[in-house]
Amino acid sequence: MTVLIDVLKDQQRSVNGQRAVELSAQYEGWTAQDILRDAIRNQFFGQISLSSSFGADSAVLLHMIAQIDPNLPVIFLDTERHFFQTLQYRDELAKRLGLTNLINLRADADEAVNEDAKGTLWRTNPDACCDLRKVRPLAREMERYGAWISGRKRHQSATRAGLPVVEWDGRHFKVNPLAAWTADDIAAYFQNHDLPPHPLVEQGFLSIGCFTCTKPVAAGEDARSGRWAGAEKVECGIHTPIYAGDGI
Ligand code: SF4
Repeated sequence: MTVLIDVLKDQQRSVNGQRAVELSAQYEGWTAQDILRDAIRNQFFGQISLSSSFGADSAVLLHMIAQIDPNLPVIFLDTERHFFQTLQYRDELAKRLGLTNLINLRADADEAVNEDAKGTLWRTNPDACCDLRKVRPLAREMERYGAWISGRKRHQSATRAGLPVVEWDGRHFKVNPLAAWTADDIAAYFQNHDLPPHPLVEQGFLSIGCFTCTKPVAAGEDARSGRWAGAEKVECGIHTPIYAGDGI
């Protein structure tokens, strides 16, 4: 019986992985807005959400979502270590764009007490801290959905250079409508739609996470080089595939 279940799981993984590959090919050359519209209204209707950090580039996707479906679930991972400017920006932007379904996710209170009683886990074990405050809360919330939208872009770092438009991570589809966008595309969209910048951008923060783990970026460095600067860590873990190699 266990063998049969494993075979069925393998088949499902390969079916979904293949669907991600086909959708990526289908979306090649589409605008980000058209990709979003098709993903939200056709491919994953009623079972897709957006995960947003309300960081430097986030207003672009949030603005597009507001035009297509302002009631789409927008998930914000509230690690309780965000810059106050990010929390203010989140509230102001959601109000300005008319987003009506903002979901603020925090770590499970018991887990936080048990695993990070002193609040210093970010310093002693940042992987465990991200797992507690980002990966697990998001995984629990994502049990309600089959797909999610992310704002990742290929130009942001070497680790994102091969990012497809649609991925299968072993449990969910991930749609990356801005995968091919450049920093200039983002700047032009902000200007054309009169979107307010995150207040920390003018201080050199090009990718904005927790205040404990984010630094401004020096000229010429890639946008994410200020995240966990000086450590080997480059991603928080929410984008790590459940099954390596599945449609990624
Ligand atoms: S980015 Fe830093 S503070 Fe934020 S959850 Fe990860 S390790 Fe913790």
